[in-house]
Amino acid sequence: MSKFVSHTKYLDVQDDIIKQYNIDLCDGSKCVNDWHRTHAHIKERRVCKWNCANSIQSTFALFHEIGHIETTKPKMRRAESEYHATVWAIEKCEECGLQIPDTIINQYQKYIDMELERGKRRGGTGYKELNLWRRAKMKNSYKIGDVVYVNGPWNVAEKCEITSERDSKKNGDGAYYVHSLELSGSFGASINNIFSTKEDAIAAHKRKSEENIAKYKAEIKNLNDLLEFPLNHCFCGEEYTDYDAIQAYKTKVFELTGIVLEKDQNG
Ligand SMILES: [Zn+2]
Ligand SMILES: [Zn+2]
Repeated sequence: MSKFVSHTKYLDVQDDIIKQYNIDLCDGSKCVNDWHRTHAHIKERRVCKWNCANSIQSTFALFHEIGHIETTKPKMRRAESEYHATVWAIEKCEECGLQIPDTIINQYQKYIDMELERGKRRGGTGYKELNLWRRAKMKNSYKIGDVVYVNGPWNVAEKCEITSERDSKKNGDGAYYVHSLELSGSFGASINNIFSTKEDAIAAHKRKSEENIAKYKAEIKNLNDLLEFPLNHCFCGEEYTDYDAIQAYKTKVFELTGIVLEKDQNG
């Protein structure tokens, strides 16, 4: 492939999809509101104020807006419509053979999480899991020899090298064997736990941990739940210690009793 072809790749893909989905691009002059952000008008199949550039960021932003046109339904809540539009964009990228950097997934996930929090604050309930990582990473996207950062039960952002693919029938799509470059040893990892940058691995770990803590805190509704909680979770089991459970427990102890537990017990 010549350099020229790869250089214009994004613009070509954008042109094709605008034609294929019959999209009316607008610089904002047809718009009655004065939003600055890129946005879509579903019925008119119009995308306003999109910043066209020969980059994956620009292409993904366009796909996301077309995703709204294709997937947003009137009864969807904000977080849900953002999720479905983004999943559409991810799938379209896969179809077009475009690699999506983790930073893009991260950025859109943050936005969805923000809308989800806002929805819940307003009393919204019954949301399904709106996790882009699970959808974005279903397709195999790493090669043997790639250096990656892996999250596991006992490690966060461990620098590893992909050594082989695992049997996808047994382990699902996107399962790999990795060899640790920090410690010795090899282990299996799912693509949901493999990241191309250390930052992304840490951000994903943090998000997961916050989810766990929120879930645990919701389990503890009263003093009785609080007293039973340590019996049902591993507080002191070496590598099996559930630090998220400990964090949730400490927070609830304070909320329900006003007692501040020793700071450094179990970390
Ligand atoms: Zn508009
Ligand atoms: Zn959107």
